[in-house]
Amino acid sequence: MARANAAYYATRDPFADFTTAPEISQVFGELLGLWAAVVWQGMGEPDPVILAEAGPGRGTLMADALRAAAMAPAFRAAIRLHLIETSPRLRERQAGVLPDAAWHDDLAGLPAGPLLLLGNEFLDALPIRQFERAGDGWAERHVRDGGFVTLSCPPPPNAQGGLVEWGEAAETLVASLAVRLAAQGGAALFLDYGPERSGPGDSLQALRGGEPADPLADPGTADLTAHVDFAALARVARENGAAVHGPVPQGALLSRLGLFPRSQALARTQPARRAAALIEAAQRLVAPERMGRLFKALAICDPRLPTPPGFAT
Ligand code: SAH
Repeated sequence: MARANAAYYATRDPFADFTTAPEISQVFGELLGLWAAVVWQGMGEPDPVILAEAGPGRGTLMADALRAAAMAPAFRAAIRLHLIETSPRLRERQAGVLPDAAWHDDLAGLPAGPLLLLGNEFLDALPIRQFERAGDGWAERHVRDGGFVTLSCPPPPNAQGGLVEWGEAAETLVASLAVRLAAQGGAALFLDYGPERSGPGDSLQALRGGEPADPLADPGTADLTAHVDFAALARVARENGAAVHGPVPQGALLSRLGLFPRSQALARTQPARRAAALIEAAQRLVAPERMGRLFKALAICDPRLPTPPGFAT
């Protein structure tokens, strides 16, 4: 999955296959930029502060976030922009809209210091492992010649039901992030799709040309994703010293951060067609039957920080 996605993101335009929240409405990135500004105030306004994004795609979210962050000039001036991106092709695209950024292959490449990290539809692209029940024991799925083969193995974490997934790569990333945030300060906000609770089942899916496809066919030509196990990530973050807020449904977070008033204010300055599109975009992001419920937000924070905006219960 890691190699197939690396090839996919290096050679294709993923946005031909799927649309993400920042591409739906500019207000999405603006709200996350303001979220970062408020968290930064709670951190004691460190200058400089690292503002980073994992998997920035076209750079849209961060460009919108920085424009909004300029409403807090001291925050904007303190920002040192860092992007975690493995695709050379997408790095080039990001450089077009974010010329002042520095790029890294992974979290470990970021310089030390207080950190604000954003990640939208990043964790779902990280490779998962799948395990099947085999008699009294378990077997792990491997890919060979375009099909699955299984090799017997010890029981996986969360061994229940007939088939389970383990987002080992995401858990490893969150563990080191939690250690870092607790030691050096800061917070991370991840938005992605996944269920409320960990459970058995196969969530590996492929999109090619915007259509569901066989995940094993023609590796590197389809976008591969799996549901994010928020409960597991929350547990790993806590075990490694961070405070965790959420997950909350994306619709709830965006509504609390002011998606509708901001979209309406923007709409009033626009011609009728564009105004209607802005309101429709806001509804698409929050409606439970659209992106509002399946997508969730998880904040991982230095435990010394106040509850971040949008997560108070
Ligand atoms: N956040 C963007 C793009 C989501 S697509 C948006 O919301 O529109 C996933 C992004 O993560 C792409 O930029 C892809 O190149 C990047 N990516 C995927 N796997 C990665 C990995 N292992 N390390 C770093 N970046 C990765």
